Amino acid sequence: MSYIEIPAYAKINLSLDVVRKREDGYHELKMIMQTVSLHDTICLEKTREAGIHLECSDRSLPADSTNTAWRAAELMFERYGLAGGLRVRIIKRIPVAAGLAGGSTDAAAVLKGINELYDLGLDIGELKRLGLRIGADVPFCIEGGTRLAEGIGEILTPLPDFSGVDVVIVRPDIAISTPQVFSRFDMSQVTEQDRPDTGQLIGALAKRDIKEASRHMKNVLELVTMRWHDTVSLAKGRMEKAGAEASLMSGSGPSVFGLFADQEKALEAYTMLSAYPQWECWIAKTV
Ligand code: ATP
Repeated sequence: MSYIEIPAYAKINLSLDVVRKREDGYHELKMIMQTVSLHDTICLEKTREAGIHLECSDRSLPADSTNTAWRAAELMFERYGLAGGLRVRIIKRIPVAAGLAGGSTDAAAVLKGINELYDLGLDIGELKRLGLRIGADVPFCIEGGTRLAEGIGEILTPLPDFSGVDVVIVRPDIAISTPQVFSRFDMSQVTEQDRPDTGQLIGALAKRDIKEASRHMKNVLELVTMRWHDTVSLAKGRMEKAGAEASLMSGSGPSVFGLFADQEKALEAYTMLSAYPQWECWIAKTV
């Protein structure tokens, strides 16, 4: 095999709680992560000449060793002493710096793709260990599905299947830096009401009861991002008005998603939200 094409799926956070700040500065998290069908496509091709060559359909992204896809390829080449070189092409659809793990999922897809392309036979545990060296969300992106994520996001527990639910995602016209949101986050400002009830949420998701789930879906980082950028709370309000059964900011934002009872309602909301010219909008399903 000399060529492979793989989808790199985005994620949304059905909840996000900060448990504590560790002495090393990292925040310990407890969150429910969900893969959605919105995806980039990663194309990998073996080349005779050595070295990594990267092209990305989004020219604003770096096409060098700071790109997460490049870092993943480099890690695999060094670790497994792979011969020749690799051409990586990213067809970018996931918005950048939007809370949807766009960079992490590209890295995850490159790790999985190289494993297949070079017939390395690595198991998922090994891929996740490698992925964690690139970013905390990479192990989740390797597993995908519905997972409880703890630690810095790398301790994953499978949850009952929640695939096939209609989702609309809106991205207000701002980019958010995750480290900046965490640096503004103040544990002492968080009340019990701001925090998700993760146990109850897991129960509601298992019953696929979106209405009940919506009562427990909370993201404590909304406190920071929404105070900082009004447009994010505006997006959430409009998502609810457009008929979402549940809506929440994903990750550190600014993307806001809505869960819908059926595809028709999701399409209506997508049409309504697409009318705002500064916002980008996608329709997807949970995977
Ligand atoms: P997360 O939800 O994991 O916090 P995010 O969706 O908020 O991630 P990304 O889209 O991963 O953020 O982008 C974060 C930064 O990573 C951007 O500044 C971007 O330049 C850089 N980056 C490097 N490689 C990539 C890539 N392949 N795709 C997207 N961003 C990348």
